Amino acid sequence: MAKRMILYAAGIVLLVVFSLALYAHFHPAQGVLVLEYHHIADRVDDPEGALVERYYVPTEDFAAQLDYLKAEGYETITMLDFSKAAKGKGTLPEKPVIVTFDDGYEDNYTQALPLLEERGMKGEIYVVTNFIGKKGYLTWDELRDMQQRGIEIGCHTADHLPLVGMSRAEQEDQVRLSKLLLEWNGIKTVFSFSYPNGSCNAEIAELLRDSNYLTAVTGDAGFNTFQTDPMFLQRVNIPRPRFGLTEFRLRILKAELFSIFGINQHLQH
Ligand SMILES: [Zn+2]
Repeated sequence: MAKRMILYAAGIVLLVVFSLALYAHFHPAQGVLVLEYHHIADRVDDPEGALVERYYVPTEDFAAQLDYLKAEGYETITMLDFSKAAKGKGTLPEKPVIVTFDDGYEDNYTQALPLLEERGMKGEIYVVTNFIGKKGYLTWDELRDMQQRGIEIGCHTADHLPLVGMSRAEQEDQVRLSKLLLEWNGIKTVFSFSYPNGSCNAEIAELLRDSNYLTAVTGDAGFNTFQTDPMFLQRVNIPRPRFGLTEFRLRILKAELFSIFGINQHLQH
């Protein structure tokens, strides 16, 4: 009896997912998909081991995800491409995607970059400036080389501390000094920002605008249009998959549905 109930429930769940997927297929969310990665590595090379395992996407899964995006007609752009198009300077491909990496891990250079390059894809890395050159993190030379090879460098503050709750002076230091440091070290003008731990509010967004940032990304799922507030862009988090490519597809579907039904979207007003 219990077994029948479970089968019945599973059937209903499948039916709902299928219906929603069908709906999304005929009413696709228009806009830019932004993906959020951290480590791209087969081995969890971290003393915290199982605690941080979810931040590691194995190279094979990452490659399969990129191939899937390509097969679905997605084309990679950078945040700056998006900002320019939003201001009417330049156009976007029909299905734009921005592949972002937070924190600035060295495997983004050794593992992710070759896989992106093989497919002619661009990417975006949000670095924490006080981590640059530390064990496991990107060096200045690697960052400059990545920039040359089609990766845009954005800022993820100086120390990776949540900004909400900090004094205004500390917030200013975190978002401004890190940007200056990047630019002094040969990184092109830094226009894009990622909130550490997704910690953000209207005042911090205002500070970013005043500090010459054009976009900032959160961890809320959804697609982005020119109506989305550029200081609260939605991003689809991609942790280590437990159910292969199906999980990846479901995460994108969830973002599409959130956009279609206006769930947790940060629209400009
Ligand atoms: Zn981070």
